[in-house]
Amino acid sequence: MLFIHALREAHLDDGVGLKGEALERLRNPPSYPATVDDPGINFALSMFLALKHSSEAAYEDIRTAAHRCFPGGVDSLVDHMCINTCVTFVGPYADREACLRYDQIKLRKSRGKVKVPQAVFHTIPIGPQMQALWRDPDSAHQMQYRK
Ligand SMILES: [Zn+2]
Repeated sequence: MLFIHALREAHLDDGVGLKGEALERLRNPPSYPATVDDPGINFALSMFLALKHSSEAAYEDIRTAAHRCFPGGVDSLVDHMCINTCVTFVGPYADREACLRYDQIKLRKSRGKVKVPQAVFHTIPIGPQMQALWRDPDSAHQMQYRK
């Protein structure tokens, strides 16, 4: 029930989901097709395909470096999760410190001040994904199949 209530009360300006430039892009999406001749998009696609069988750490390092060079695009939302995957710390659980949310050694050494999540998960919000599909004439046409 807590999650249902949180979903009913959610809005774009609640500071939980997309923020800043990503939120602005959601509100004012580009209305022209993305071009694959854009070197940034080509780079992102190449890296995605090249790293599909690599470790998550390698992917994160490359993604972070690429994001510095080519800001923009579809951003993910990062939230903490239990290392045993029994709970995600979102919505009504956002402030909970149960399970193994933080690195216990760092937490103990810092006397509870340094809170490094042991595991995180990425959510790619549906809004930017839909906008990206809508920008391409072919996928926009396909999205209207039940119109
Ligand atoms: Zn747990």
